[in-house]
Amino acid sequence: MAQKNTVAPLARDFIARASAAETDLRAKSRAPAAERLLIVNGPIFTGGADFALLDGHGLLLEDGRVAKIAPISELPAQGARRIDARGKLVMPGLINAHMHFYSTLVRGLGKAAPAHDFNGVLRNLWWRLDRKLTLEDTYISSLVMMLAAVRCGTTTLIDHHASPEAIPGSLVRIGRAGLETGLRIGLAYEISDRDGPRAAAEGLAENADAVRFCRQRGGEHLRGLVGLHASFTLSDQTLARAHARAAYLGVGCHIHCAEAASDQEDCLARHGVRVVERLRRWGILGPRTIAAHAVHVDQSEIETLAATGTMVVHNPQSNLNNAVGIADIVAMRAAGVLVGLGTDAMTVNMLEELRVALWAQHYGRRDPAPGFMESTGALFSGNPVIAERIWGLPLGRLREGAPADVILVDYDPPTPLDTGSALGHIVFGVSQSAVDTTIVAGRVLMENKVLKLDIDEERVAARSRELAAALWQRF
Ligand SMILES: [Zn+2]
Repeated sequence: MAQKNTVAPLARDFIARASAAETDLRAKSRAPAAERLLIVNGPIFTGGADFALLDGHGLLLEDGRVAKIAPISELPAQGARRIDARGKLVMPGLINAHMHFYSTLVRGLGKAAPAHDFNGVLRNLWWRLDRKLTLEDTYISSLVMMLAAVRCGTTTLIDHHASPEAIPGSLVRIGRAGLETGLRIGLAYEISDRDGPRAAAEGLAENADAVRFCRQRGGEHLRGLVGLHASFTLSDQTLARAHARAAYLGVGCHIHCAEAASDQEDCLARHGVRVVERLRRWGILGPRTIAAHAVHVDQSEIETLAATGTMVVHNPQSNLNNAVGIADIVAMRAAGVLVGLGTDAMTVNMLEELRVALWAQHYGRRDPAPGFMESTGALFSGNPVIAERIWGLPLGRLREGAPADVILVDYDPPTPLDTGSALGHIVFGVSQSAVDTTIVAGRVLMENKVLKLDIDEERVAARSRELAAALWQRF
């Protein structure tokens, strides 16, 4: 191809591989343009570790950034489109720090044999399913869940993908859906030795390709990590290669860590060390790496996670659903571990996940007192730090100069709402309300509960049903 020196291979892939069916789902390839917006009349929950609830303030969004947060009288009266937030709570866009978009296509599938432990769930369901995924399955399932995320006010999602028979180009498909919806998406392919050396090599290459694609085409929206499945499906050689590739690319890793007790049993039996120690020895841990789950870690492993600055992502709904246990996020936070919140694809509704995180801590401890600050902290202070480390942008906090990722949620507080009561309102009330408006980088993706994207939602759902039916036949 004549442009090979000017058009990067992945950019060509992005253009050339799009099938007619995929292209037809949208009329144009861009999300709406950033606007100059003035959001007034609603209380503002600023997010972050030092969050505040600001009353009588407004928010000026300009050039994709929060230009000003100030009392209404100090904000410009003209020159910006006004969004009336009366009867709504203004919040930073929510962050999902561990997701698998492809899981969408399993919804309602009744063909998997019942499994009575975590490895059975993987063998009977996930590893049967992901081997049958095509590139279009990956693209459509991502688009479906991204549209759902816009409706839930989740503006940043860190994905972890697997499609062992359709690896090359898979992350580019997810990235493309991210660019089309205007969300911020973290990409990673979960490298594993479970499907043999070809898939392990392709997984490694796909992560590297995705990191380059994000740098060429992703702007402030896409970021790549080096994904790894889990200790029990990874050889020493593959861990070493992944570490080397991540170091070369200057990115962290994203791996499932001690999700079930069986991961520890396997690691001790085959390698003579516990999972966190094995990952540390191979250079996988560190301040740019996500260790998802960490359900079965002991105190020494918690101290290693803290000492290495590794980002732990808690996924309570998935852990309860798979009956693997409840991560001790109270102990982890006390030890100084950075803990965030993900959904592991159970939902894209972060406020639902937050509630379950809290109930899980209470039930797991048979004590309804602890866990509130740890659960809310995972979502509102942990996730912003995780996103900032990966994006290099102060996401998840409404501050002057921060990216203009803002949501409005229907809420008329029935009790006093201020900085001291805000988290209680969010867990027990705001979580039960509808998201009205979703803005990312100053672009309005949804307003008055109507999507503003130029994507045909009905056709996306229809195509997804067709692809899922075919996938279930192959399953
Ligand atoms: Zn996961």
